[in-house]
Amino acid sequence: MSVLDIRFYGDPVLRRKADPVGEINDEVREFAEDLIDTMYEAEGVGLAAPQVGVSVRMLVADAEYKEDRSSARVFINPEILEADGEWKYEEGCLSIPGIRADVKRPERILLRYTDLNGETHEEEMNQVWARVLQHEIDHIDGKLFIDYLGAIKRSLIKKTLQDLEYESALYLEKLEEEDGDEEDDEARR
Ligand SMILES: [Zn+2]
Repeated sequence: MSVLDIRFYGDPVLRRKADPVGEINDEVREFAEDLIDTMYEAEGVGLAAPQVGVSVRMLVADAEYKEDRSSARVFINPEILEADGEWKYEEGCLSIPGIRADVKRPERILLRYTDLNGETHEEEMNQVWARVLQHEIDHIDGKLFIDYLGAIKRSLIKKTLQDLEYESALYLEKLEEEDGDEEDDEARR
């Protein structure tokens, strides 16, 4: 179990179309645990793999946000088969802290996904669950909730986004340095 670093707006991994998860093995199951740990630590209701820098089609969510974590769920290779209704609701994103905005999305979806045992299911999701899942599925397609905002709202959040971009650049630089150090260590061995 570990809490992973959450990537912020400006990190290119958030704009990439993620790859499907292949075999569901222990590595995938451990990663799911880490995603759940990270989501609760950050007090979020959903977290997609690209948000921790891993570009695969996998996400965790808990629209009920129970403290004992009993309502946390893992969705692998999720696909929206049907969507209908329309519902405006305020969203935020762990990768874009400081910004909240109303977004219109379908109220109900029919979802196909694979679970941690490798079994595929089809399930209808409504209201907040449907909302969270659509937001997280956008993440694995490289889409962010701010993409839905109008020009005026976008101009109001410009400064916050610039600050996040700057922070992301610093983080990625640091990560690269650490990678370099590790490679040096390997070479020395
Ligand atoms: Zn998000």
